[in-house]
Amino acid sequence: MEKTLIIPAADDFHVHLRQGDLLKNVVPLVISGGAARVMVMPNTTPPVYTSLDAADYKSELQKSAPQTEFLMTMYLKSTLTETEIKAAKNNGVLALKLYPKGVTTNSEEGVSGFEDLYPVFENMQEYGLVLSIHGELPYDTGQNICVMNAEEKFLPYLTKLHKDFPSLKIVLEHVSSKAAVDFIKNSGPEVAATITPHHLELTVDDWARNFHNYCKPVAKYPEDREALRQVVIEGNSKFFLGSDSAPHLKSKKDIAKPAAGIFTTPLLMVYLADTFDRLGCLDKLKDFSSTFGRTFYDLPENKKTIKLIKEEQVVPDEYNGIVPFRAGEILSFRIEVDV
Ligand SMILES: [Zn+2]
Repeated sequence: MEKTLIIPAADDFHVHLRQGDLLKNVVPLVISGGAARVMVMPNTTPPVYTSLDAADYKSELQKSAPQTEFLMTMYLKSTLTETEIKAAKNNGVLALKLYPKGVTTNSEEGVSGFEDLYPVFENMQEYGLVLSIHGELPYDTGQNICVMNAEEKFLPYLTKLHKDFPSLKIVLEHVSSKAAVDFIKNSGPEVAATITPHHLELTVDDWARNFHNYCKPVAKYPEDREALRQVVIEGNSKFFLGSDSAPHLKSKKDIAKPAAGIFTTPLLMVYLADTFDRLGCLDKLKDFSSTFGRTFYDLPENKKTIKLIKEEQVVPDEYNGIVPFRAGEILSFRIEVDV
């Protein structure tokens, strides 16, 4: 029997769209994957440091995909002034992205390290900018960090940050561990997390033997994947879609030291429909991909709709030289997008 789902187009609250030729090849695929609105990460070269940079980047993206709505972010630096943060807010920047390179260990308390960023957090809290965090502790913190524990070991720092700025909205991006899931569940309503399609599918074995499944944070143990699956099955509103789709050319992946990143943009909602259906929670997909995230970010519902039809398709081997997630595998849905 045909199974069809008609829902609003997705909001993808974490995507890498790159620059130059890669951008031109990737950006038109956003809408075909079922997302109408995407939050664009600022780690370009050079990074998006100012609201002017964000506006320039946005107009470049818009040229390649006029029908897509791009939500902009900036790279968080401790030198950001109140004027710059206010300008960011006024120019439509939604979030500042923190890559916690600066975190250092305080052997007394074990949880300090963000103090030089406190004036920035203060201003973000005041002007209503969301703090988006890549939550992994860096290797040089003297805490025996490896890919498997970097997220969990970051959580005490986040706990302190949340305690010191209780009204600051925080999104812990691409959660990958049971510890992080528990942290989000137990934190206040201002703290949420994004979940990627690939972290709902993969465990450590999958990237240990196939570098196309290598991403940061890495997929972890089966019990971690289970914790992620449980919150989507329950329909927990603190967890929403952020694909972290991160395209790299095949030549950057098919090598001994592959680049980190999994490309899901072209079939985003098809991957998710396949996964949610297998987990028996297809009815929870709409909220995960187009309600919880926009509610957290205070945005209206997408007017575009997508239709997911239960019909098998094979994932292409590549898109313009980029190997997508689950290439060559069969997915149980196809998509029709109303544009
Ligand atoms: Zn990312």
